[in-house]
Amino acid sequence: MLGGRVGRIAGAVITLVLPLLGGAIAEPSAEAAPPSPHAARIVYYDASGAAEFKQAVDEGAQAWNAAVHNVQLRPAGPGQAQVTVLADDGWPRTEPSGLGAGTVYMGREAVSEGFYPPRIAAHEFGHILGLPDNRNGRCDYLMSGHSSPTSCRSTTPHPSEAQQVEQNFAGGSAAYRVAAVKGDDGCFRAPESSEPSAARGGTARAAGARHAA
Ligand SMILES: [Zn+2]
Repeated sequence: MLGGRVGRIAGAVITLVLPLLGGAIAEPSAEAAPPSPHAARIVYYDASGAAEFKQAVDEGAQAWNAAVHNVQLRPAGPGQAQVTVLADDGWPRTEPSGLGAGTVYMGREAVSEGFYPPRIAAHEFGHILGLPDNRNGRCDYLMSGHSSPTSCRSTTPHPSEAQQVEQNFAGGSAAYRVAAVKGDDGCFRAPESSEPSAARGGTARAAGARHAA
């Protein structure tokens, strides 16, 4: 039967190959492997719903990839995405569902105010990677969001931001809490809004729908 013949052929191949492998393994290796570095966790993102921001999203991801080693952001294949990136007419925001997972909204409000889309993307990915907002007004921090000027086009994480992300993905993320890193619709929105704050509080979660209306 065919199965028997295949089996015999496979057997012959194994018999032939094994001694070769054995020889290769036995030889002392000239280039001893260095201690294997911690394997990066891959976080896949789907930017197919990011409309005109697709390239900005890729730029934001690449900025993180250049700055950290323990995690890398890559475009997702079908069914692979842990992060969904969408464009809408609201304010940029992120709804994390866990470390390295969630939904990013590339809101057009901030872009029309003049904020740089790749920096917005890098900021929102910062939330996905476990960073909270940090409105310190500095352009060399990604998480400063609205507090940095619209002229700021830096997409490079501050070393302290990169260091925090490295720690988050080093295996011990015990300190990580979704609530603490949620990037609400204030990421790039002026804190002193002309809207009464009481009216904003209850509708923040429905921001997308509100702005679309
Ligand atoms: Zn934010």
